[in-house]
Formats: sequence, C-alpha cells, structure tokens
Amino acid sequence: MAKQPMLTFVDVGRDMPDKRDASIRNSDFHEIYAEYAAAKAAEQASRCSQCGVPYCQTHCPLHNNIPDWLRLTAEGRLQEAYELSQSTNTFPEICGRICPQDRLCEGNCVIEQSGHGTVTIGAVEKYITDTAFENGWVAPISPARDHAESIGIIGAGPAGLAAADRLRRQGVQVTVYDRHDRGGGLLTYGIPGFKLEKDVVMARIDQLREGGVEFALNSEVGEDISFEAIRGKHDAVLIATGVYKSRGLQAPGTNADSIVRAIDYLTASNRKSFGDDVEDFDSGELNAAGKRVVVIGGGDTAMDCVRTAVRQKAASVKCLYRRDRDNMPGSRREVQNAEEEGVEFVWLTAPRGFAGDPITGVMVRRMRLGAPDASGRQSPEVIDGADFVESADLVIMALGFEPEDLPKLWGIEGLEVTRWGTVQADFSTHATSLEGVYAAGDIVRGASLVVWAIRDGREAADAILDYIDAPANAIAAE
Ligand SMILES: Cc1cc2nc3c(=O)[nH]c(=O)nc-3n(C[C@H](O)[C@H](O)[C@H](O)COP(=O)(O)OP(=O)(O)OC[C@H]3O[C@@H](n4cnc5c(N)ncnc54)[C@H](O)[C@@H]3O)c2cc1C
Ligand code: SF4
Repeated sequence: MAKQPMLTFVDVGRDMPDKRDASIRNSDFHEIYAEYAAAKAAEQASRCSQCGVPYCQTHCPLHNNIPDWLRLTAEGRLQEAYELSQSTNTFPEICGRICPQDRLCEGNCVIEQSGHGTVTIGAVEKYITDTAFENGWVAPISPARDHAESIGIIGAGPAGLAAADRLRRQGVQVTVYDRHDRGGGLLTYGIPGFKLEKDVVMARIDQLREGGVEFALNSEVGEDISFEAIRGKHDAVLIATGVYKSRGLQAPGTNADSIVRAIDYLTASNRKSFGDDVEDFDSGELNAAGKRVVVIGGGDTAMDCVRTAVRQKAASVKCLYRRDRDNMPGSRREVQNAEEEGVEFVWLTAPRGFAGDPITGVMVRRMRLGAPDASGRQSPEVIDGADFVESADLVIMALGFEPEDLPKLWGIEGLEVTRWGTVQADFSTHATSLEGVYAAGDIVRGASLVVWAIRDGREAADAILDYIDAPANAIAAE
C-alpha cells in the first residue's frame, strides 16, 4: 500500500503506550506500525484463550470469526487469517482502525473481563489486512460471469461501497452515484486522517473501480440527477446517503462569523490533506491555526474536531460538554487521547449565547446533574449565577446529525420515513416501501458506525440479488 506522505503526527494507539514519545510523533506511520506489528500481532493473538464462548464474535456486528483468525495469526498463518477475516468483513483494515472496539469486540473479550486487559483484536485485524495488501493477497474483483442486471447505489460511503463490492462480485452491473468528487463518504471527508489514512480508503475505491464498479461522482441526486431517473435506469436502487443535517443551537449570536459546523470543518481539513485548494480553509475561516478554539459537544465528532484543531496548531483547544466525563457519549479512549494532546475539557457547561461578530467568546452556563430522566440518564440542570465567558476565535458546533428530508428533497412519493426522518426499511432485507428500492447505513439507523453500515450494505446486496434473481456464482466461494 502506498505511503501516506502528509501525516506528520501519529496516533500510536492504546496498545503501543511505550512508543508514545516525541520522536514517534514526527515519524512516518506505516514504518512504525510495520516494525511494531509483526511481533506484537502474534503476541496479542496468542493471548486469546480460545475460550469457547466467543463474546467478542457475538458483539462484533459482522460476527467476525475472531478466535479462529487470532489462532491463525498466532501460528504465523497470516494469509489464512486474512482469508477468514475478509470472508465476513468487506473492509477489515478500516474496521480494525476505527471501530470503537472498547464497546464492541474488545469490550466483551473474556480476558478483558477477567481483568487482564483485552486482546487487541482491532489492531490484529488491521495488521493482517495491511499485510495482505502488501503481499498481494487481496483478490481483485473479477466475477466468474457478467450479468445484464444493473443496480444504482446512491451514496459512496461504507454502506454503499460494501453493497457495491458484494453485488459486483456476483457479476451484476453497479453504478455508485455520489455528490462528492471522491468516494468513501465519511471515511473520506468526515473521519480525520490521523485515525483513518486516506490512502487506505482510496485503495478500496480503486479496487472497486478496477473490478468494474462505475462511479458517477459530482452527481447530487435531487440536483444533478433525479431519483426517478436513477430508478428508471436500474433494476433496483440502494439508498445509502448517510445523515448530514447538523443539529444547531437556539441561542443569541449563533449566526456570528467564525461559528462553524463540525462537518464543514472536518471536510475542509480532509480536503487539504488530499492537497485540494480549499478556499474557506486558506482564508482562515475553517483553519484553527493560532486560534482559541472552542468545540461544543461530547460525541466522537467533537473528539475528531478537538484533535484536528490540535494538529492545526491552535493556540488553545477547549471542549464544552453539558454532562460530566462519565456521562459523555464519546469514546473514553478518544477523550484520553485528546487530553494527552493538550485539549481541555470543561465538563458540565453549556453555551447560553455567543459574544462578538466575528466571535470573541462563548457565554457559558455551569450545569449540574439532576435526577435521572425516563431513560435513567441524569439530566443536566443550570446552576444560577455561575455563568462565565470563554474566550474564542473559532467555535465548532459538534452537536450531532439528523437525516435530511429525502422524500421532500428528491420529490418522491411513497417512500416511507420514520418519525425521526430516517428511511423506513425492513430490518433484514433493507427493502423500503418502494418496489425495488432498498436503503442501508445511517440513513436507516440514524448516525451510527462504519461496521453497521458495512453489515447493512452486505445484507442489502444479498436481498437485491434475490430480488433481481441473479444467478448466484461467487458468494459461497468468497
Ligand atoms: C466526524 C465523524 C467521525 C466518525 N468516526 C467514526 C469512527 O471513528 N468509527 C465509526 O465506526 N464510525 C464513525 N463515524 C460514523 C460513520 O462514519 C458512519 O456511521 C458511516 O460512515 C455511515 O455510512 P453510510 O454509508 O451510511 O453514510 P456516509 O458515510 O455518510 O456516506 C453517504 C454518502 O452519500 C452521499 N450522499 C448524500 N446525499 C447524496 C445525494 N443527494 N446525492 C448523491 N450522494 C449523496 C454523501 O456524499 C456520502 O458520500 C463518524 C462520523 C463522523 C461524522
Ligand atoms: S469489525 Fe470492528 S467490532 Fe468486529 S472484530 Fe473488527 S474491530 Fe472488532
């Protein structure tokens, strides 16, 4: 796999604490990881007790056969480990890097639960797939036979790409439409490069393209092409458009200059890492360099923003969150990483308004946690008379995402949505209320995880194959 030249700051991860020093931070990611991985992957894999009650596997949304590929790794049978791992996961190198393993496979490892520290499953999964790419073991997409049936996929994020891969391997014609100029969805323009290097994502896009998947990029459905035109062109359609409507705040001053949305900030930063001209970054609007940055929110997107701002050499980076550390939605590991990098968390605080235009400060209320609500979660309450002003030159709003109103945006009748605005789809087939139209990923689940998007995409592809009645050729042999 090609080296990633733009990285100068390395997230060495929780399983390499001995290497977290300044010299590493200025070195090249892949070289360090390669040195680390060969010995460490085998050592970690051999820690698996083969317990026979694989909670790790049950709690992986793809039900990866983790114990078996750990055993193969421990025995040095890496190619077999890779073959097994990729049989259930379309993008194991991506999940190995960015799944919140502490909430999924690793959090349920019996060794972790007995107090001895988890087997670092994600790091091993990443290692065996990176090794497979380096050694040419990753099979190109080359279907045994081509079929005339064609599928239109709207959205080139992990859900759309996982479906495209599975459909194309069956010889079906696949066109993926996306409004962006590159595929990958949030893998490309949301998640920062220090967590998921962009060449890793682009390698998969290249593989799909070389395997015959057509990409219709810069094609915004509803603007450049209509949904009905896509439906008319293909035998079935998969909607995999993700959720992009940023939640906002009703507070005085929210329209001031230098208050920006997390998705715009992260997209600009990711575009710069590709070497693109990004006007709003170059003008300073979406660049944290030298600024006092305040990020509002406590989820993983907020963590990505604070850590990106540190890398852009902000003067200071603070994160305001209305609950405390124990009650924040973001991953503990991410908070720890951010703190180690110099981010200050101002717990139990919420913005009351914004001063200045352009912004000069956030007017902040102090909160305390009150009685638990219906969900059992303690609700934040305002502490009267404890307000203060947090100075800021750039405020990034990371308050979460909601689905856009697709039926209205695309002028479609008969596409049912839930009361949250997500597309209503069958739990296992992902069929929507429209004949031959399927939906997968965040647009069905609401903001979720890459690994769930991959699972949905794979399942939707299988249901679409049944629907178009394409003769099965390769799935069993994959
Ligand atoms: C900042 C951030 C960080 C995250 N970090 C992690 C993480 O570390 N680990 C993890 O597991 N998950 C993470 N997630 C969540 C994860 O990225 C998503 O759950 C996942 O990408 C959803 O996949 P998807 O294919 O459904 O949608 P997306 O990845 O959002 O892809 C949807 C695609 O559809 C395209 N599209 C939308 N509308 C149209 C239209 N009208 N016409 C044409 N194309 C359209 C978009 O351009 C996009 O390319 C993160 C999310 C964010 C926002
Ligand atoms: S896909 Fe994610 S949850 Fe499943 S084994 Fe890999 S890292 Fe763990």
